[in-house]
Amino acid sequence: MIIVLKKQIEKNEKEHIVDYLSKKGFRIREIQGESDTVLGAVGSAAVDHNEIRVLPGVAEVIPISKPYKLASREFKKTDTVINVGGVKIGGNRFCVMGGPCAVENAEQIDTAARIVAESGGVILRGGAFKPRTSPYAFQGLGEEGLKLMKAAGRKYGLPIATEIVSEKHIPIMEPYVDIYQIGTRNMQNFELLKAVGKLGKPVMLKRGLSATMMEWLMAAEYLLSNGTDDVILCERGIRTFETETRNTLDLSMIPILKKVTHLPIVVDPSHGTGRRDSVIPMAMAAAAAGADGVIVEMHPNPEKALSDGAQSLYPEQFEKMVCDLRSITAILNKELARIPQPTTETETVLPTAAHPHLVAFQGEHGAFSEIALKKFFDTEKYRSLPCKNFHDVFESVLRGESKYGIIPIENSLAGSIHTNYDLLLQYPDLTICGETKIRVSHNLIGIKTTELKNIKRVYSHPQALSQCARFIEEHGYQTFAVVDTSGSVAMVKEMNDPEAAAIAGEAAAEYWNMKILKPGIESDPKNFTRFYIICRKENKPDTGTPDKVSLVFSTKDEPGALLKILTVFADNGLNLSKLESRPLFGKPWEYLFYVSLDIDEKTDTAAVFDNIKTHTEFFKVLGMFKRNRD
Ligand code: PEP
Ligand code: MN
Repeated sequence: MIIVLKKQIEKNEKEHIVDYLSKKGFRIREIQGESDTVLGAVGSAAVDHNEIRVLPGVAEVIPISKPYKLASREFKKTDTVINVGGVKIGGNRFCVMGGPCAVENAEQIDTAARIVAESGGVILRGGAFKPRTSPYAFQGLGEEGLKLMKAAGRKYGLPIATEIVSEKHIPIMEPYVDIYQIGTRNMQNFELLKAVGKLGKPVMLKRGLSATMMEWLMAAEYLLSNGTDDVILCERGIRTFETETRNTLDLSMIPILKKVTHLPIVVDPSHGTGRRDSVIPMAMAAAAAGADGVIVEMHPNPEKALSDGAQSLYPEQFEKMVCDLRSITAILNKELARIPQPTTETETVLPTAAHPHLVAFQGEHGAFSEIALKKFFDTEKYRSLPCKNFHDVFESVLRGESKYGIIPIENSLAGSIHTNYDLLLQYPDLTICGETKIRVSHNLIGIKTTELKNIKRVYSHPQALSQCARFIEEHGYQTFAVVDTSGSVAMVKEMNDPEAAAIAGEAAAEYWNMKILKPGIESDPKNFTRFYIICRKENKPDTGTPDKVSLVFSTKDEPGALLKILTVFADNGLNLSKLESRPLFGKPWEYLFYVSLDIDEKTDTAAVFDNIKTHTEFFKVLGMFKRNRD
């Protein structure tokens, strides 16, 4: 039963209720809901609910109608989100677990762990104690396997999931294991469930070979009632008459489970199908069906695998699968779970000339991003860190290598830089904390010994080439696109070709010690680029009351949906400084709206956001910060 407590309950009243129920043989769990605190009481004792209803501090008593209690949605309405070493499983995170069927040797598990981490997986799987159908088949490396797996997991920041087959292995396994896996053959080994439940660690409970949903949830109940709060259900296929696949993957169970239980559900398409060619399609289907993650077998060399090679993905396939899952989950408003990045100690230390903080930017020294960086930051205390691409800028900030990043977001002639809006969505741990703007003026730059009249070919970023189209046309130059403006200067220098020139800012010419052959060659001199400063959420500097907010949302597909949202802004007297739509990936003719709003200290942003959320399907605040006032 569920006992809803009164909001103003006294501490001793609560203790009395717990004591009263414990004496009657109930196990009690306290759950802090959004608005209420409830006690979940489970046990076999018969009790008259009226007896409990009259206890001081009790607001309501609700019986749980299902035979499984702690696992039921009646017991807990919100999704359980399990935190394994900072990796979140459940809720709006989609977790990719990967690794070989069994740990075979140090090199194999190290390579597998590296591939999992580099591809975007977050949990390393692998068996050290293997429950094999034949006693003559490879049984796993035992404790040695656990040691190797833990070392590989630690090296790449991955918590590990591995199967326990016997209670007597607990003392050996406890120091290594992050997630205990109960295999399909042991789903109803109740003594094992009780012992593992008592450990209090996350447990992944695989569905039994021929278990009904009810039997599976009752097995989860054994784990939960014995002590752990963190159970992950794993659908791994059931026995049917079909022999083309190893098992029949029962994805139809996912939406049903989502209704009746709050526990996260992952899918194992490897054991579920037994066929490599079916694994990726079923992983995609699992995501689409609403699963919270997948656990997939991948081997650095599947032909040489000691077990389950035929269903193990090749490393490239695993990487591609994660990439595709990222797209599918985005449509479902979920994000792939990430490995938490340790923050560096510099975060708490103020930057000084002797200990400057790093600010990441895309491009080579002298790039426009670096010019914007130098305008915004005190160059005495902040040092610029060039990055190859925008993704690397975000990664550097996330890892804590750079305290801030600077990214171009919009050009007055060319419009928004959509890649950076996409990245802002993909990095939920980062936020916008400031903005700046620079005027972009382009120069034709060549080697010291050349003249304007010699030039035949020009190299630059496509945006710079298009912004100087008139000048290029007039001179009949041949154009070549490269990744960044300052990099194009470096390239022309390297070529040492008197007929080649680059287009870039003055700072790039200066940095590479090259000659400006013609300044100000842009077609329109009113050419500005706006930049956002990004940081990790917990590092956001206190710059006073923010006066600008950047939002992204998608509306419901119904008449007047956008109008309703705009009305909220108007009713709250909020000025819109930007409104732009762009197609929502994977949903033709549906759009994401990017909005910038001017706010002040009187704006009740929480109320405005709550109001907007009632009209949106997806809503995210990209940042609240001080607007650029130049
Ligand atoms: C495994 O995941 O290694 C395994 C043996 O799976 P299952 O228990 O689902 O057969
Ligand atoms: Mn296997």
